[in-house]
Amino acid sequence: MPRKSIPQARKPRSAQRFRRLLLAWYARAARDLPWRRTRDPYRVLVSEVMLQQTQVSRVAEYYPRFLEKFPDLRSLASAPARAVREAWDGLGYYARARSLHALARSVAGRGEAGRGVAKLPEDPQELVKLPGIGPYTAGAVASFAYEKPVPAVDTNVRRVLRRVFLGDAGRGTGDGYIWELARALVPKDGKRAWRFNQAIMELGALICRARRPQCSQCPVRPVCRTGKRLDA
Ligand code: SF4
Repeated sequence: MPRKSIPQARKPRSAQRFRRLLLAWYARAARDLPWRRTRDPYRVLVSEVMLQQTQVSRVAEYYPRFLEKFPDLRSLASAPARAVREAWDGLGYYARARSLHALARSVAGRGEAGRGVAKLPEDPQELVKLPGIGPYTAGAVASFAYEKPVPAVDTNVRRVLRRVFLGDAGRGTGDGYIWELARALVPKDGKRAWRFNQAIMELGALICRARRPQCSQCPVRPVCRTGKRLDA
C-alpha cells in the first residue's frame, strides 16, 4: 500500500458527520449484491477481480456460475487453463482470469506438498505480493473478507474523496495522499469499516458518478466541498 514519503492527511473535521451521513444512506440504499453476502476470502477476491473491468449486472450473472465450477482456491488451482478461460468467457479482459488462476496456484501450492489449507493472507501488505493483486484489491479482500479496518481506494472512492474533502483544490493531488485520507477516515471497528468501504464505493457508483453527479440527491452534500458550491 502506498504509505511511504506521503504528506500526512489529517482526519478532516467533517469526518464524523461524513461517516454518519454515508452509513445512514447505505443502510437504506445499498444494492443487494451476492458478494456482499459472503465473507469467504476466495469469493470476495473473485468478485473483486471480475468487477475490475466489468459492469456489476454482468458480474452478477457470471459470478455464481464461476463459483459453481470453481468453489474454492484449490479447485481453481487444479483446473486446466482452458476450463478457466471457458468459465470466464463473456467477461472480457481474460488477463484477469489468468492472474486469478496463477494466484490460486501460488496460494494452493504453499501448503505441505500442496495439501495444506489454501488460504489467502489477511494482511494487505501480504496480499499485494500475490499475482495480479494491487493495493485496491488487497484492501478490498482485507476489509470485505476479513473485516480489517483498512482502506480500499478504487476509482469511485478516489473521486468521492476528492470531491468531498478537497474540492477544486484536489485536482492533481497525489494518489498517496488520497490513500492516507481514506486511512484516516476508515472506522477502527472492522465491521463498521466493512460498511464504510462498501458505502463509499456505492456512493461513487450510484450518486457521485464521474459524469453528472447527482448532488441534489446526495446524502453527504452537507459536508461536500464540491456539492456546497451548488448551494451558493
Ligand atoms: S454532493 Fe455531489 S460532488 Fe459531493 S459527494 Fe455528493 S454527488 Fe459527489
